[in-house]
Amino acid sequence: ESWNHAPHVVVAPNALSGHSIPFLQFARRLANEGVVTTIVATDRHVLELRSSLGATDWTAQGVPLRILGLRDGKAELTHREWTEKMREREVELEVVRLMQELVVDVSSPMAQLLRGVEPAAAPVCVLHDMFVPWAQEVADRLGIEKHLLFVSNASALSLALQSTNPQFAEGLLPISKENRDLIISDIPGLPPIPALELPDPFLVAGLFDWMQIRHKKFRKADVILVNTFYELEKPVLDALQNEVLGHPNMQAKCILEIGPLLPESYVNDDGNFDITTNGSMEETDPCILWLNTRPPKSVLFVSFGSGATHPAPQLLEMAFGLEDSGCSFLWIVRPPGTPGMSATSENPGSVTEFLPPGFEERIMDRGMCYSGWAPQMRILKHSAVGGFLSHCGWNSSLETVCAGVPILAWPKGAEQHLNRRYLVDTSKLAIELEADPYTKEELEGDKVRPEPFYSREEIAKKVRNLMHEAEGQAVRKNIQRLRSAAREAGALGGSSRRNFEAYIRLLHNYGNCNGEGNGH
Ligand code: UDP
Repeated sequence: ESWNHAPHVVVAPNALSGHSIPFLQFARRLANEGVVTTIVATDRHVLELRSSLGATDWTAQGVPLRILGLRDGKAELTHREWTEKMREREVELEVVRLMQELVVDVSSPMAQLLRGVEPAAAPVCVLHDMFVPWAQEVADRLGIEKHLLFVSNASALSLALQSTNPQFAEGLLPISKENRDLIISDIPGLPPIPALELPDPFLVAGLFDWMQIRHKKFRKADVILVNTFYELEKPVLDALQNEVLGHPNMQAKCILEIGPLLPESYVNDDGNFDITTNGSMEETDPCILWLNTRPPKSVLFVSFGSGATHPAPQLLEMAFGLEDSGCSFLWIVRPPGTPGMSATSENPGSVTEFLPPGFEERIMDRGMCYSGWAPQMRILKHSAVGGFLSHCGWNSSLETVCAGVPILAWPKGAEQHLNRRYLVDTSKLAIELEADPYTKEELEGDKVRPEPFYSREEIAKKVRNLMHEAEGQAVRKNIQRLRSAAREAGALGGSSRRNFEAYIRLLHNYGNCNGEGNGH
């Protein structure tokens, strides 16, 4: 079996959809290059990964890709049970708990499992997700390299690396209510950032320590791969090369941007993302069928990723705003408190009870509400879609860049506020919603960053701006230009493609990426 001579990479993803979608895409690319790729995930996650990869038996077709499951005892929990569990608790505490369960420490069974894997040479590295620090312990046990595939952007990576520097923010982290007006000005490659625009872990005491454990591991990775491309984040990528790499407490010998990684069903084997249909199969998806009836560029796509939901009053206000905009829209809308979803989740059910009375009838001739998992990349690429009201999750941002659809930014959590600043201020691909000023109660409450409230007037106005006015035209032009740059980066000779090839060479001549340079 020729697999004995190919490099073997162990891939350790995380179960959150926003992480496992790009991971699967990358794993498939590795396997297509003949790298033996073993994905290791917990049982709960394995079922999902298998179904995302399709029914194909890759190994039988000679593609060296396989998935191994680790017992975590959670496989039997249904989506509905998770929903109930989620509703019982404070959301922030819940996030911490959920994360802990998703990244349960399985390092010793994993090391054992890998010793017994045949037929393949011993692995040359463990390629892990940012939330899976125990994968580095596995690599250490096996005496092999630790590679980080960072599925967010270079900006978040720069901040994460900088955050473990004791001088950073003068010891004021995590940000508290007392210092939330702080401006953070020493993140390599980034303009000064208001503290309230930092990712969640910097503003939530309970999450901060949890995340810092992970951030410290980033510095111990031998190679860091980032899901971005040079034209999109030039200043940050340059700063990472020139100011961060080679620093005494940075282990990495290279930081390579290899994006955009897109949902894999929509990328063909050449890495080209220009696929607009699901081939010759008859179309059955309700969102696509509805879009097929709409004029070009007329529809606003509204979606907040795999996890975010809105409190009932905000959901109601959003409905009024969308209605008052007079624009056509496809709204992926989930009941408040619905837990994180993936392509295999059941539809969480109707949201009618959270919408204004008669809403669905009134908007029937120009709007559609859908609460299931939507084929987002295909929607964004559909000719009827002309704008995207988005939470600025990084995958969504890359997907909409690759589709050339401009953004109206409504960040929810994670690093989305930071993404918004970059998309609005630096790259000018998005316009933003302005929230109502915080009330006294909100400012005095427990949260360092209270959830903002967006009025129906503001929503209606900005939706019209994006879809019909000069502001929207300007960001549309910018994003369409960047779309070409994204395509070039991934095509033969492009910067991301060259970095990917350098990575493959590195795996082959194990341990030497010096002199390969970064693809720019
Ligand atoms: N997604 C999808 N259908 C949905 C919701 C999400 O296909 O109904 C995909 C979306 O295309 C993206 C990922 O899920 O690839 C969400 O990742 P992102 O980083 O945008 O946000 P997150 O879910 O991590 O908040």
